[in-house]
Amino acid sequence: MKVDYLIVGAGFTGATLAERIARELDKKVLVVDRRLHMGGNAYDEYDEHGVLVHRYGPHIFHTQSKKVWDYLSRFTEWRPYYHRVRAVVEGKEIPLPFSLASLRRLFSERLADLLEEKLIAHFGYGARISILKLKEVQDPDLRFLADYVYKNVFEGYTLKQWGLKPEELSPSVTARVPILVSYDERYFQDTYQAMPKEGYTALFRRMLAHPNIRVLLGADWKEVEGEVRFDRLIFTGPMDEFFGYLHGPLPYRSLRFAFEHHQRPWFQEVGTVNYPNDHGFTRITEFKHLTHQAYLPHTTVVYEYPEAYEPGKNEPYYPVPREENEERLALYQKEAAKLKTVLFAGRLGDYRYYNMDQAVARALKLFEEVARG
Ligand code: FAD
Ligand code: UDP
Repeated sequence: MKVDYLIVGAGFTGATLAERIARELDKKVLVVDRRLHMGGNAYDEYDEHGVLVHRYGPHIFHTQSKKVWDYLSRFTEWRPYYHRVRAVVEGKEIPLPFSLASLRRLFSERLADLLEEKLIAHFGYGARISILKLKEVQDPDLRFLADYVYKNVFEGYTLKQWGLKPEELSPSVTARVPILVSYDERYFQDTYQAMPKEGYTALFRRMLAHPNIRVLLGADWKEVEGEVRFDRLIFTGPMDEFFGYLHGPLPYRSLRFAFEHHQRPWFQEVGTVNYPNDHGFTRITEFKHLTHQAYLPHTTVVYEYPEAYEPGKNEPYYPVPREENEERLALYQKEAAKLKTVLFAGRLGDYRYYNMDQAVARALKLFEEVARG
């Protein structure tokens, strides 16, 4: 078999590149994925109770990029959805990101008033500050707040999720969940926030339904390598695996997902409840809040238990953003640069903590380079 492009991985990165190359360049593309389905980690399916669940953890679409939004809108209609998250702190469920509303759930009116006033005076109403930045503040009352939020919201969760403290990771990791000097109770603040109306898998089916695209599922790249001839390869799996761990493994963090079905309409009040300080899991998500199934009389939730990544045993869900890993990544990037017909992209291929929209943006950018030749 001969194709123009062989793309390894049918997630957002692989599907976007396949669609663009097949449609715009009129080239023959074969997409292979070792899983038995397309969609990568965004794959969704109906469980045995008829609840639409995300097999690899909750996926909520949000972006600031009109380009990405417009592109994906060719393959799906949307349902507006503003994700809401709470964290259990000292037995109370507080809004997350930590905001002025969270202050009021935890502290006396007098203390909350004082901290609100100081936060606004210091940063301005509407500001978003990372916890590591807030910890640098000198004012004693804001120091108290920073230490409190660090200890009760970030430290335990981060230790569970990564096996590391917040300051041992790139500051960009904890900055994903800023402290909000406002009463905004949405988890994300992006312009576009929505869920694909018929789910992610339906979106992927439309993306890949082109006469120039063939999709081969349940096939590892290693198995097809000798069978298929191709001009160019786009690899969206783990870069270190591609090179046979030549420079040692790039660290990843994995998760175990535990699904539970309950014979009652709702399990919790919001989409996700985080448990920074108790239990072995980090968060519980109830899918019905995210999807279009509020009418169901029963519900399914998922618990996320972080664990070490072991190749062959579990999945490399998260690259670990920290300096020493960048050094190893640079060695692999050097290897990649030597290969003129192989391109790497995606959360695993670039070893970058991309959200879905960032994976699509990266793929669209790479497509432009491919199209220029
Ligand atoms: P992937 O989706 O990982 O796809 C890569 C594919 O390559 C996989 O299907 C894999 O099977 C295949 N593959 C790898 N190696 C090989 C090989 N050797 N041979 C054949 N196939 C191979 N993003 C958001 O925007 N919002 C969210 O709410 C959100 N929640 C998330 C929650 C969790 C728990 C996780 C883990 C991620 C979340 N993300 C979220 C991020 C999102 O999953 C990624 O941005 C997106 O899936 C990246 O797409 P990708 O195509 O680069 O990688
Ligand atoms: N985080 C935290 N406590 C929380 C939520 C997030 O400490 O209650 C930190 C933690 O380090 C986490 C990071 O912020 O890994 C990013 O959180 P996000 O919800 O964006 O993680 P993801 O959805 O990608 O797993």
